[in-house]
Amino acid sequence: MEGLVDILGGQATSKGIHLFCHVNPGVPPVVSGDPQRLRQVLINLIGNAIKFTAAGEVDVRVSATGEGQAGRIRFSVRDTGQGIAPEQAERILDSQGPAPPSGRSRRHPGVGLGLTIARQLVALMGGQLQLESAPEAGSTFYFELPLPPSERKAIEMQGTLLAGRRFLAADENATNRQLIRELLEQSGAEVELTSGGVETIRNLLDDPAYDCVILNSILPDLDGLSTAAMIRSNRTLEQLPLVLMISSSEPDEVQRCEELKVNATLTKPIRRDVLVRAVHAVVTSGGFAEGGARAAGEATILVVEDNEVNLRLARELLRRAGYTVVTARDGKEALRQMDQQAVDAILMDIQLPDMDGIEATGRIRETPAWAEIPIIAMTAHAMKGDAERFLEAGVDTCLSKPVNQTALLNMLARELARRREELGAA
Ligand code: MN
Repeated sequence: MEGLVDILGGQATSKGIHLFCHVNPGVPPVVSGDPQRLRQVLINLIGNAIKFTAAGEVDVRVSATGEGQAGRIRFSVRDTGQGIAPEQAERILDSQGPAPPSGRSRRHPGVGLGLTIARQLVALMGGQLQLESAPEAGSTFYFELPLPPSERKAIEMQGTLLAGRRFLAADENATNRQLIRELLEQSGAEVELTSGGVETIRNLLDDPAYDCVILNSILPDLDGLSTAAMIRSNRTLEQLPLVLMISSSEPDEVQRCEELKVNATLTKPIRRDVLVRAVHAVVTSGGFAEGGARAAGEATILVVEDNEVNLRLARELLRRAGYTVVTARDGKEALRQMDQQAVDAILMDIQLPDMDGIEATGRIRETPAWAEIPIIAMTAHAMKGDAERFLEAGVDTCLSKPVNQTALLNMLARELARRREELGAA
């Protein structure tokens, strides 16, 4: 999905349209189905929506419907365009309607044709393309497909965040082991598994070429902390980045982890997004980057954004990742919010009414107490020279819109880790 948004985002941005993509939490990360067909349908629908929206938004949503393993997934593409008259809608969606011409005309798909193809592909996958629309009020195309969650499939959907990285993960529980393997492999990593501390040490002495070792604190023979201690006291292994999965009910474990210079601790049960983010931060920065859901829970993020949909999506994303979120619609409100509570990082839209992101950043930097708070700018217009202008104003780093969720979370974790390190060193 994010790949699609990357491709079509440029098209939307060049027209000044916001393209949003939102995958609801209940949707399994990988489902079995026909990715090529699904991709084609979404490209057609999103492309159409962008084409017929002069200004405003195109919002793509994926959500699970029904319960659990039944696996029906609903896709919807909403635009704020001119809308479609009922008669026309009927013609587009009428299953008795004209078949798409075959052969060369496929190369020049007009609106009707793109939608006809989408309608037929949806039907082939066992769904029905539907439309809610009214002239001047925009349109929503939607369909539901039976897509059972897949165990290990759809290589096309694998990410590349951890491509080329090698992990060793130790967990006594076979289900947990497989889960960790799947999560990391989905991000492109190579994963070896062990079920105990002794086996882990043996494996490492045999072959220490791993980017990171992930240990459950509870292991049958030699527990996770003792295994970590052995790794830290062995000359060949002492530098290995370590991630420990600990219980929130054992506060001593956190302290032991710090003493052992464990690079990140994660609180069980492990959330997939937190695990991938944490190990990514560890292998790229080497720092105590994630600090687990604990650290995320302690951080308050100020989101400054005037677009209501963008604001809602950012807030939801950050809350799900464990952050506390406060919001502001313009620069002045941002400054007021900061007067009222301490914030740990700021996501700053640049184009804002009243006081824009550049001016607000300048004001924030003028205040000594706020001079070092990480500020991540979000901008739809990455013009030449813009980055320099933002940096000059005091922004730490920039993200271009539409904002990629993984990129945003990674950047935020990195900025917060950097800030924590600075505070620790001071
Ligand atoms: Mn804006």
